[in-house]
Amino acid sequence: MSQKTVLIVGAGIAGASTAWHLASLGGYRVILLEMEDAPDRHSTGRNAAILRTAMPDPILHGLARESLDFYRNPPNGFCSQALFEPVGLYLAATAEASEDFLGWTGNPDCQTGAHRVPSSQLYERIPQLAPGIEAVVHLPEEGVFQVAEIHHSFLRGATKAGAEVRYKHSVEGLCIDEGTLQGLFVNGELLKADSVLIAAGAWASEITREANLPMPLTSYRRHILVTHPLPAVKKDWPVVWIAGAEFYFRPESGGLLLSGCDQQPVAPEHGEISDDSALALAAEKTDRWLPTFTDAEMPFYWAGMRTFAPDHRFIVGPDPRLPGLHWAAGLGGHGITCAPAVGKLAAEWITSGWSKHPQATFLAPGRFPAEPCPR
Ligand SMILES: Cc1cc2nc3c(=O)[nH]c(=O)nc-3n(C[C@H](O)[C@H](O)[C@H](O)COP(=O)(O)OP(=O)(O)OC[C@H]3O[C@@H](n4cnc5c(N)ncnc54)[C@H](O)[C@@H]3O)c2cc1C
Repeated sequence: MSQKTVLIVGAGIAGASTAWHLASLGGYRVILLEMEDAPDRHSTGRNAAILRTAMPDPILHGLARESLDFYRNPPNGFCSQALFEPVGLYLAATAEASEDFLGWTGNPDCQTGAHRVPSSQLYERIPQLAPGIEAVVHLPEEGVFQVAEIHHSFLRGATKAGAEVRYKHSVEGLCIDEGTLQGLFVNGELLKADSVLIAAGAWASEITREANLPMPLTSYRRHILVTHPLPAVKKDWPVVWIAGAEFYFRPESGGLLLSGCDQQPVAPEHGEISDDSALALAAEKTDRWLPTFTDAEMPFYWAGMRTFAPDHRFIVGPDPRLPGLHWAAGLGGHGITCAPAVGKLAAEWITSGWSKHPQATFLAPGRFPAEPCPR
């Protein structure tokens, strides 16, 4: 019996995880198509690597917890080192933000293992933190991902199980004949497929645009900055995230990695071009919250794209407008945290045509009304 072919567009964390799950199941010819010469050129290689499963949305929290189980206990032979460092996470809030913050962090559907602690505990850990924190929640099991190890383990495992990864293969669009998906146009040629998964990050909705199958995704640029090594920063500092100030930081290479949480809507081709006003915003917030480090040089910085659906939930599953077309997109700011569950869910939809996953219907592409008019 001939194998069914699944083409995956994008070798970022969404495509890599789905390829790993599909290839591990066996019975499918899986081909990952990546337009760049490496898999980590975009969001998966440009994030803050923070493991934070506590989220105001219980649907995303569920995916994050499921993924944390995977990260804690990956299958034998999956990786050669731990996939994250549980340095702990302090979620904090300013006075203005504390009511909303205490509401959702007190909801067991939105967090697991969070302890409300006095703000003095955070000030003891980070004496350089300026006054102004009203409420604090500690999540001792969360921390910092080894993103490259996770990403490469998915890709390595997928190829070992028979998947192919083709770099410098830019997908131009869908090939549809009389309402039936035939495959993809790639580097000017038709590549036939039984199923196609769009896992193209900020470019996801561009790929189906020509076929008149839009998906409401918007990308927002965000900057990350890294200081020079700072003697006052301890290696075992936790991750700190301040709601109300929209500022986070964590230790990195002897210094600090931080973000002022800028979010500028952008077209993908502009999403990684740094913007001085966003760098100034991060400097301003550093000055407000970590004044000891006001003069710290921040020689390393970059911008990346966080891509969202209007309801900020991921888009995972089959597109009801075109049989064979699937999505794993709109992973926003939690794509690394939730990748194992997203890949499993996307693979389940492709192989079974249905899913009993508790989050499946909330993430299904069909929740967005659209005209079924493939060309
Ligand atoms: C600044 C920043 C901080 C973040 N911090 C965190 C964090 O701390 N924790 C967390 O969990 N998440 C974080 N995220 C979010 C996380 O990085 C993303 O959700 C995740 O990487 C998205 O993965 P992806 O595979 O969907 O997209 P990508 O990694 O962008 O992968 C998509 C791939 O598709 C390819 N592609 C696009 N178009 C085509 C085409 N036509 N043909 C072939 N290939 C194509 C691209 O080249 C790319 O490699 C952050 C993101 C940013 C930007």
